[in-house]
Amino acid sequence: MNIKERLNRILATLPEGVQLVAVSKFHPAERVQDAYDAGQRIFGESRPQEMAAKAEVLPKDIVWTMIGHLQTNKVKMIAPFVSLIASVDSERLIEEIEKQAAKCDRVIDILLEVHVAQEETKSGWSEQELYDYLATDALSRMPHVCVRGVMTIASNTDNESVVRADFQHIKDIYERLKPRFGESFDTLSIGMSDDYPLALEYGSTMVRIGTAIFGQREY
Ligand SMILES: *Cc1c(COP(=O)(O)O)cnc(C)c1O
Repeated sequence: MNIKERLNRILATLPEGVQLVAVSKFHPAERVQDAYDAGQRIFGESRPQEMAAKAEVLPKDIVWTMIGHLQTNKVKMIAPFVSLIASVDSERLIEEIEKQAAKCDRVIDILLEVHVAQEETKSGWSEQELYDYLATDALSRMPHVCVRGVMTIASNTDNESVVRADFQHIKDIYERLKPRFGESFDTLSIGMSDDYPLALEYGSTMVRIGTAIFGQREY
C-alpha cells in the first residue's frame, strides 16, 4: 500500500469530527508532500528544527502540530507558524509560548500533556500537578495561549486493559476540565498507530498516527 491508500484506509475508520494528525517525524519532506497530495493537511513533528525545515519547503497551508517534548529555548523557532503545540508539560513552557506568540502577534493553541501511563519515562503533568497549576489561574494572564484540551501517550503494552485504563483516566480529566475552559476546550488527543481504534472508543477527537501511514521510522 502507498501513503495515499494507507491514509484513506485510516480516514475511513475515523468517525466524523475526529482529526487525523499525520505524524511525519523522521520522514523526509517528500513523504509529507505525498500525504499532502493525497489531501492530508495536519502534520505532527517532534523536533522543532525538523518542523521548521519542512515548513520552509512545503505548502503554506499545512497545519503544523508539535507533538514531542519541547524545550523552552526552541519555542521561538516554531512560534511564527505552528498551529498547535500538543505536548505542553510545564508552566515554564506555557510562559515561553505566551511570550513568543505575543512577539508574533499570534494566538497559539496548546494541549496540556498529562502523564497517566505506567512508565516513569513518559513526560507530562501528573493529574494533581496539573490541577495545582490551573488553580493558580496563571493562564488568565496568557492571552496568546489558547488551551484546546488534553493529550496523553498511553502505556506501551500489549495488555489492552492497561491501555483502556489510561484512556479512561485521561477522558475523566478531560471531562472534569471542560467546564472550566468552555467552548474552545474541545480536543482529547489520544490514539497512535497501535492503539487508535481503542482510543476512539474513549472519545478521542484527535488521533496522532505515524507508522501506519508512513511506515517504520529510521532513527
Ligand atoms: C511518534 C508519536 C506518535 C506517532 O506514533 P506511531 O506509533 O508511529 O503512530 C504519536 N504521538 C506522539 C506524541 C509521538 O511522539
